[in-house]
Amino acid sequence: MLAPTDTPAVARNAAPYLHGPETDALTGALAAGQYGHNTETEVFEQELADYLGVADVVTTHRGTAALHMALMAVGIGRGDEVVVPSQTFCATIHAIRAAGGVPRFADIDPATQCVTGETVEAAITVNTRAVLPVFYGGRAVDLTELRLADREIAVVEDAAHAFGSRHRDGRRVGATGQLTCFSFGPIKNLTCLEGGAIVARNRREAERLRTMRTLGIRANQLARIRTTDYRVDGYGLPYHLSAVHAAVGRVQLAHFDDVVALRTALWRSYARALAALEGVELVDVDIDNTVPFNLVVRVDDRDEVFVRMKAAGIGVGVHYPPNHTQPAFERWYRRLPDTEASAPRLLSLPFHPAMTEVDVTTVVDALAAALAPCG
Ligand SMILES: *Cc1c(COP(=O)(O)O)cnc(C)c1O
Repeated sequence: MLAPTDTPAVARNAAPYLHGPETDALTGALAAGQYGHNTETEVFEQELADYLGVADVVTTHRGTAALHMALMAVGIGRGDEVVVPSQTFCATIHAIRAAGGVPRFADIDPATQCVTGETVEAAITVNTRAVLPVFYGGRAVDLTELRLADREIAVVEDAAHAFGSRHRDGRRVGATGQLTCFSFGPIKNLTCLEGGAIVARNRREAERLRTMRTLGIRANQLARIRTTDYRVDGYGLPYHLSAVHAAVGRVQLAHFDDVVALRTALWRSYARALAALEGVELVDVDIDNTVPFNLVVRVDDRDEVFVRMKAAGIGVGVHYPPNHTQPAFERWYRRLPDTEASAPRLLSLPFHPAMTEVDVTTVVDALAAALAPCG
């Protein structure tokens, strides 16, 4: 294991699923002198495309970079409004700001912590140029009912949590013809240690994104970068995925089915154990279609429960403090009744593939004790 093994599994909220083959892939890539964008990156992209059942995948060095580029690709610029849930990792909002856009916060369905057609519709204004649904906890969000394309509103999906998940109709996240962004950060379902990817809407868009993520230098010019002249065709940033990270991602993808099985089984055993507890609401992820990213419950007196759980050595977390009240984004504050009611009650329990049934019992017992009134 590459991950630190000296802490008990229940003390960590999340941890990557990394084993010997990833270490071998890392040292192999280094020994082969594969550092930057390289054939290893291209092979990984093809393998991702095959897995998702799409023509083309453009990898990036982070999920945040994927979101930033996707927003640029749909033309988000200065002052354009992007409808987005407040209930997400702050990276989502920073990506909108990086593109020059402004967040227009949408409320969520408290049962799922995701936006719905209704909450998105309520947030749309004449200045809205894009909608950015977040697939919270791995659950796919489908907004086709809103016919946004007909209204010249783009959709960029933040599927950072949802690699491997499916929509209700069986289509895989990323394979629905939308612009979909993934993160392969250390705690995501599939990890490159650091990485991300975009599924573009068509080949032309994918090519534009490819050029953008290598500083505006086209693939056929990249080989010339160590010669005396190469061409820079357009705007771009150094957002490519290095071959070192791609090598780790390839190993992860090869055993991704194991990860799916482990995460799904873990979520189900938590759901069974938590059903017996009073005062605990489980955030629904539609487990039949979802590769779960985390396990989130809602409890009263969350902050007190959090402190007690930490004191008991349990690695609780919060996904996420809402963004619309953060100093960085409060300029765009709107009242979001369901977000504001549920956010202070959210608690993420330890959730990662190294956990066992015994660990689940340990966590749930600790939660039962933490929920008990003070003596
Ligand atoms: C992790 C994450 C991101 C950002 O991805 P990085 O790879 O960390 O840059 C964006 N949105 C959500 C919802 C995330 O969880």
